Amino acid sequence: MKFYSTNNPGHQVDLAEAVIKGLAPDQGLYMPSEIPVLSKELLDKFPEMTFQEIGYEVIGALFSTALSQEQIKELVDHTLTFDAPLVKVEEDVYSLELFHGPTLAFKDFGARFCSKLMSMLMEKSDRKVRVLVATSGDTGSAVANGFLGVDGVEVIILFPKGKVSELQEKQFTTLGQNITSLEVDGVFDDCQRMVKEAFLDVELNKKLLLTSANSINVARWMPQCLYYFYAFSRLPKSNKKVVFSVPSGNFGNIAAGILAQKMGLPIAHFVAATNVNKIVPDYLQGGLFAAKPSIATVSNSMDVGNPSNFPRLLALYDNDDQELKSQVSGCYYSDEETVKAMQSVKEKGYTLDPHGAVGYLGLKDFMAKNPDYQGVFLETAHPGKFRETVEKALDLTLTLPERLAAFMDGKKKVEALGNDFEEFKGYLKSL
Ligand SMILES: *Cc1c(COP(=O)(O)O)cnc(C)c1O
Repeated sequence: MKFYSTNNPGHQVDLAEAVIKGLAPDQGLYMPSEIPVLSKELLDKFPEMTFQEIGYEVIGALFSTALSQEQIKELVDHTLTFDAPLVKVEEDVYSLELFHGPTLAFKDFGARFCSKLMSMLMEKSDRKVRVLVATSGDTGSAVANGFLGVDGVEVIILFPKGKVSELQEKQFTTLGQNITSLEVDGVFDDCQRMVKEAFLDVELNKKLLLTSANSINVARWMPQCLYYFYAFSRLPKSNKKVVFSVPSGNFGNIAAGILAQKMGLPIAHFVAATNVNKIVPDYLQGGLFAAKPSIATVSNSMDVGNPSNFPRLLALYDNDDQELKSQVSGCYYSDEETVKAMQSVKEKGYTLDPHGAVGYLGLKDFMAKNPDYQGVFLETAHPGKFRETVEKALDLTLTLPERLAAFMDGKKKVEALGNDFEEFKGYLKSL
């Protein structure tokens, strides 16, 4: 399978180059040139198969031209060391819990896959790869923990000072070893911009082998389609159509759902749910795509003003803007609405994190208008990761899972950085 750049379909590379480069040289995102379609007979067997078995089929279909059967098995086994239970919250409403991995957010899936694949691809090289990551919270921890101790790879994380929860911060700033954290005096978009500039800087790229483990990297992005197949297979048999509601920031997660749909999974509709950083919902409701400075909210992992995976949504629908708008609805919610949803769902016996709450709201609003559906919302993080917000909203004290509590004992180690690219470039040149 080849990968093309969304900015130039004529520019095609193989898997290794797409993964090591991260972003195409023309700033486009890499996309698979062909999307394999799984047969209906195979999909019909998924309800009886384990998550891992489904993983071998889906990852095998995507990557079998580039990787051996053993490599595919090794990748899937390394990625899926934890479950993604589908939990019934209300009649026809299901939560897909994606937070049972090592850093308690869905990004563990993509980060574990990406780190394993990168180390496979670099095995025979004697060059050191530097992975640059901009994070609004959960990417940093998932990527850092995925790459911790991996030979030949050094991870440099940029995060906005004071805009990431303490627990999230602790999960990447305390690790040491091959992980360095830079605390940027700015917002997430500054971090993302500086990382992008570094990838395009000719001088830096002559000196260093730089890559990205943000969801722009196909190795982070594509394996996320796995849990859509899995969730779908665990839904009760029903004549109702199926909708997935995805709390979105950079839109990698929902793009992976659309990839699953293109691979033959009969998802009838998607809801792209955001907080007030509503760039994509505005576009889906008929406006233009207009990036804006990000606004801080209680669902801070989705505080993104220039969603980087947006070109993938269009590419998946063959750049047919009308088709995209008919398959994906957009909606957005204020912090007040988010907190209210957390409270009302708690009364029903389920604890949402602020991101899951946005997904839940999107799903409920869609289903109110479309009763012939059953729906799944993605619960993208453990409520304990956003302890301050959840405890305040629900007036309770959360017990943190042990692996989360363990991070709190670590000592934060960071280097300070301004939001000017030249300063960041100077830092990288000094390595
Ligand atoms: C990253 C993140 C999101 C947004 O996912 P995208 O793929 O960027 O749209 C949502 N929820 C949580 C908890 C996250 O960490």
